[in-house]
Amino acid sequence: MVTPKLFYGYILIAVVNCFVNCNNTLEGNANGTLSKQEDQNRSLSDSLQPYIKYQKDLMVLTNATIVDGTGKSIKQNQTVIIENGIFKAIGNATDIEIPEKATTINLKGKTIIPGIVGMHNHLHIPGFPFVGDVAAKLYLASGVTTIQTCGAASPDKEIALSKAIEQGKQIGPDIIPSAPFITGKGGNPNMIIPRNIVHLKDTMGYWINSGVKWFKVYRNTNPDDLKVIIEEAHKNNCKVRGHLCSVTFEEATKSGIDGIEHGLNSTSDFRTDKTYGICNGGREYMDELIIESPAVKSLQRLMIDSKVFLTSTLSIYEASIPNRAYADERALKAMSPFLLNQYKERRASFDENIKDITRNNRLKRMMQFEYQYYKMGGLLCAGVDAGRHVLPGFGDQRNYELLIEAGFSVEEAIKIMTGNGAKALERSDIGTIEVGKRADFVILNGNLAEDASVIKNVETVFKKGIGYDPNLILKEIEGQFGIE
Ligand SMILES: [Zn+2]
Repeated sequence: MVTPKLFYGYILIAVVNCFVNCNNTLEGNANGTLSKQEDQNRSLSDSLQPYIKYQKDLMVLTNATIVDGTGKSIKQNQTVIIENGIFKAIGNATDIEIPEKATTINLKGKTIIPGIVGMHNHLHIPGFPFVGDVAAKLYLASGVTTIQTCGAASPDKEIALSKAIEQGKQIGPDIIPSAPFITGKGGNPNMIIPRNIVHLKDTMGYWINSGVKWFKVYRNTNPDDLKVIIEEAHKNNCKVRGHLCSVTFEEATKSGIDGIEHGLNSTSDFRTDKTYGICNGGREYMDELIIESPAVKSLQRLMIDSKVFLTSTLSIYEASIPNRAYADERALKAMSPFLLNQYKERRASFDENIKDITRNNRLKRMMQFEYQYYKMGGLLCAGVDAGRHVLPGFGDQRNYELLIEAGFSVEEAIKIMTGNGAKALERSDIGTIEVGKRADFVILNGNLAEDASVIKNVETVFKKGIGYDPNLILKEIEGQFGIE
């Protein structure tokens, strides 16, 4: 049994969580149990059984090194009790009585982190409107247990996949789907380009009725349309995030946007000769802007005070830097022959320009921008924005390494990738390893604090307390990513 001391701690945490979040939660609650729906969904269809390493009502982790996703210091030698898919007790081995008949996993030499909450995790890649079935497996096998897709190229398929996973018919992270992208005149033709306000509201209404709660605006959005989109979304308890250009970060923030993507690389606030409402102007700022300058700080202050979350997507940017754009060995195995060939061609042209460090310097500046945003109190999240040779899941892991390179501590980088994502999603039931939360976590083989690359050594991925075998999943999808 759980000791009384910890048990009361758990009730207190659950109450506090509820006080903070219950009024305003898009989905999920940290009430210390899985909902009836979720509990039913712990029964997975027979075809998924081979992927499952652990499916027990009562489990104990011993000798755990925990990076808990709250930003608090790493804890060593912890005992964790998981009951019916929920963390029931966490503490020093001496304080926790181990229940009888529990399945025990000894985590000596390993690290556990919360399941990654991917905040810019598409189910499409350039040229392929839907890669969801394989992407979902890649995400889960990499320790990503929840994704917000940040714009859909195939929204119906996204919604269907989200339901299939929820119902235990397919494996993958929990998917929080998106409506199609909305852009403006001159924008990508496969996105929604509003004809007028009536058309815009009708289209949004259709997707809201389909159960979607997230809208993403794209680079050519008209500033007046953006105001309508935000107003309409908020009226319906939905959120708006943007990959901006025609609208500056400042204008979008003042219009009430919820989240902004990619950081410095998509700011148009500092472009020279930019026309209001148009995606134009010079990008010299990427090489010249002083990140500590009052201009940048006051923009970030405005965003922070307006509670705008910023999503870091460093790994996809790195994929365009000649001396850095190398595919992960595992990605080479997972890519289709077509994508592999594309990668080789790109690599050959990178090799010709290997000495060009312009983009490398821009990456450093982007890192600085994000570091400053976080340190000033901003909500920084992360996502893969898969494309090129940066694959779903593997790119999320690479983001972790890049956040460490940017200067974040292990605790901060994990918080950005887990707890902060949950916060942006207004989900109090996931994102951290704390009593009362859903047992979504990842066992990493090795000491993450000593070596950032340990993030890739995923031994088991737990979602709702069910442990999946990443190696089996990855074996199955070899050569399958980028086939349609
Ligand atoms: Zn994207």
